[in-house]
Amino acid sequence: MPRLAKMPPIQEDVHACTMCGYCVPVCPAYQEAGWEGASPRGRVFALRQYEMRGPLDLLLRRDVKPGEEFGRNSWECTGCGACTEVCPVDIPFDALWDDVKAWMVASGYERPQLAPYLGNVRQTHNLYGEPAEKRGAWIPPEAVQSEHPEVLYWVGCAASYKRQQIARAVVKILNAAKVPYQILGPEEWCTGAPLARMGYQEVTKEELMPHNVQAVEETGAKVLVTACAECYRAFARDYRQWGGNPPYSVFHISHYVEKLIREKRIAFTKPLPQKVAFHDACHMSRVAKVYDPPRQALKFIRDLKVLEISPHHEDALCSGAGGGFPAVFPEQAVSVGQRRLDAAEDTGAPTVVTTCPHAELHFEDVASKRNMPLSIVDLAEMLANAL
Ligand code: SF4
Ligand code: SF4
Repeated sequence: MPRLAKMPPIQEDVHACTMCGYCVPVCPAYQEAGWEGASPRGRVFALRQYEMRGPLDLLLRRDVKPGEEFGRNSWECTGCGACTEVCPVDIPFDALWDDVKAWMVASGYERPQLAPYLGNVRQTHNLYGEPAEKRGAWIPPEAVQSEHPEVLYWVGCAASYKRQQIARAVVKILNAAKVPYQILGPEEWCTGAPLARMGYQEVTKEELMPHNVQAVEETGAKVLVTACAECYRAFARDYRQWGGNPPYSVFHISHYVEKLIREKRIAFTKPLPQKVAFHDACHMSRVAKVYDPPRQALKFIRDLKVLEISPHHEDALCSGAGGGFPAVFPEQAVSVGQRRLDAAEDTGAPTVVTTCPHAELHFEDVASKRNMPLSIVDLAEMLANAL
């Protein structure tokens, strides 16, 4: 049996729990599994028992400590932030679940399905194991970069390799506004946000964060712009909480477009007379508390009708894409995604727009597996189409 590593300092938080159960029905993993062990309260209850085990338990050889079952339950979590949102005693689950997963990895309960992502990032600096030197291969000839950039465009692994249309859309927007910008290419490493939700936060903090914060700083840009909700969360929230202190402003493209419009540097003149359903990406909305900028950015597009998927804002359901959930629990992840897409279909819009390339990849997979006639489009693409 693996040797249990030292429990992270979460005792105060787990003892604060009142067992009210508000976090149970909102958890997408619980909604799928249907049993308490997969819910935040169930895991907190187990953690409390482990924390309180005493000499009598040892004497009687009671097995009151985490094993494979708790290890498995620890990854029944997409990192969606719904439990943090509803918890009346404000348990900071966003950090706590990262700590618990890291503890389980250190104790020998790593999920084998997730280890390749860690290996890929270490070897190639991207989640997918694609060649590091090809990270900038998508950059089109019209992307004229500046030696003295106002903006560093942070692309992210997904838009660099899997959804390059997003990256090209951002370049189109920055070109239209005549913003001097730079793109790091191979010097941009995975932010490590997905790895931190998989149980590898130490790698993110110690290897990826210092490199990335410095690589951006060295460009001299005072503003980082990204079109990825997870990368936004990393720079705007996680890195700051972990002491990385990026010495520049961090904008999601939707924020940044609002600034460009205010400064009269860009206008979206092409009407797009269509309906779209907007999905709140968890890492940007509930976790980083950014709800309005993407909605505001879509309002800049003439004739576009933006519909809300029910529920939305802080109550929005997760896509199921985060925390390595699709790799460890593929069927449950598809069901979580399908529930969200079912609700999107109920709006009557043929297109879902969101701000997270990881959610978009997952939604596309779900739509194709479940034969759903929806197209999934990134907000940056919508904006670029309206230029
Ligand atoms: S972060 Fe989301 S998926 Fe994870 S335990 Fe909380 S509600 Fe469940
Ligand atoms: S919402 Fe908070 S206090 Fe209530 S059961 Fe969940 S963790 Fe405990």
